[in-house]
Amino acid sequence: MASAGTPSDSTGAAPEAAAAPGLGGVSTAAAGGSADVLVVGAGIVGAACADALAARGLRVTVIEQEVVGSGATAAGMGHLVVMDDNPAELALSSYSLELWREFVADQPARHEYSRCGTIWVAADDEELDAARLKAATMAAHGLECRMLDAAALYALEPQLRPGLAGGLLVAGDGLVYPPKSARILLDRALARGARLVAGCVRAIEDGGVLLADGTRLRAGAVVVAAGSRSSQLLPELPVQPKKGHVAITDRYPGFIRHQLVELGYIKSAHAASGDSVAFNLQPRPTGQILIGSSRQFGATDPAVEPDMMARMLRHAVGFTPALRGLNVLRCWTGLRAASPDGLPLIGEHPGRPGVWLATGHEGLGITTSLATAQLLAARIAGGDAAIPAQPYLPERFATLQPNCEPWGQSQRD
Ligand SMILES: Cc1cc2nc3c(=O)[nH]c(=O)nc-3n(C[C@H](O)[C@H](O)[C@H](O)COP(=O)(O)OP(=O)(O)OC[C@H]3O[C@@H](n4cnc5c(N)ncnc54)[C@H](O)[C@@H]3O)c2cc1C
Repeated sequence: MASAGTPSDSTGAAPEAAAAPGLGGVSTAAAGGSADVLVVGAGIVGAACADALAARGLRVTVIEQEVVGSGATAAGMGHLVVMDDNPAELALSSYSLELWREFVADQPARHEYSRCGTIWVAADDEELDAARLKAATMAAHGLECRMLDAAALYALEPQLRPGLAGGLLVAGDGLVYPPKSARILLDRALARGARLVAGCVRAIEDGGVLLADGTRLRAGAVVVAAGSRSSQLLPELPVQPKKGHVAITDRYPGFIRHQLVELGYIKSAHAASGDSVAFNLQPRPTGQILIGSSRQFGATDPAVEPDMMARMLRHAVGFTPALRGLNVLRCWTGLRAASPDGLPLIGEHPGRPGVWLATGHEGLGITTSLATAQLLAARIAGGDAAIPAQPYLPERFATLQPNCEPWGQSQRD
């Protein structure tokens, strides 16, 4: 779908574009014609932004250095989950869940969608109290959820170890296969007139970007949706990589039926430093079991670390002992883009007019991608969004104000 041609808007020596194998017909150099918006990155966030901007009639060019839906999107578990650690997170995730349910409704199988629900597992009475608080918050927000005592928990999920206190079932949560959903979003953007360019953005400039091959692309707005690599392009961004491990088993249909997450996950997800693992088990529609997850700061090597993987698997076996007998087929890692307050940065860079940010989604970017795109598109194209944008605006970080020092390496480590 991507159009190819002589780059009228580039100063580099970009040749007539040719289709690149494996990139779905994308042009390999700057495509002809001008754009209103350049989107850097075609992970789930960039793909969703491109789609939402193209839907508003803007001419969009997406630049991706690898394949559509790579980066953290390819590594993520694809759990679509309402998180309620603060009102802003609850507003963004629950709004995005609504958008996901509409989006997948036409073709759930293409997204490998399942509305499996989440069970937040309470190990003891203290965690059960935390589950009750969570239930009250969610119910007040109109979300369907149900407290489970121990008997109800084991009736739903008999593989859980004995001795647990109960849990909370959140019925509207679900899962997708993120790289496929990213591809579907990007294809819809292309059908709406967007273009996809294969290339690596080396620098964000005033009014455009510079690619590694020397090509310059121009547009009034540049959206940085480069995931954990966003801060390589804009060093002042308060975003640092947080590595995660995941493993997937052979097919064991019916082993579990809901996404199972320990309530302790929240502590792990919000830790500001150190390594942690949390019990997070997902029933894939294929019958496979996806096992997550770990969190590590300061680790950018994508290699699977046997110690971390062993720690994560031991922890999972502690909750579901029969996991020990299942065959793990593959394991991998990914880098989340973590912001200091755990919320994404969605909006214009306060120190760089024309540069827009859609990054910092940490471990919730599959879930929150669609709401992010709606918020961002409303701010770029004008118009109202369904929820207030203010909590996610980048200007909440002082380092992004004009003339501030770049976010320091010491803060990243
Ligand atoms: C182990 C793990 C488990 C997770 N589980 C979940 C989950 O269950 N639910 C959930 O909601 N979220 C989950 N997440 C988080 C989620 O995967 C991310 O928040 C989300 O994928 C971020 O998407 P993104 O598009 O911002 O970034 P990415 O997916 O990283 O995409 C960025 C894209 O930009 C491209 N790019 C980068 N730099 C450049 C450049 N200079 N030029 C051109 N292109 C560039 C990259 O190639 C990439 O394709 C998980 C993450 C991890 C690591």
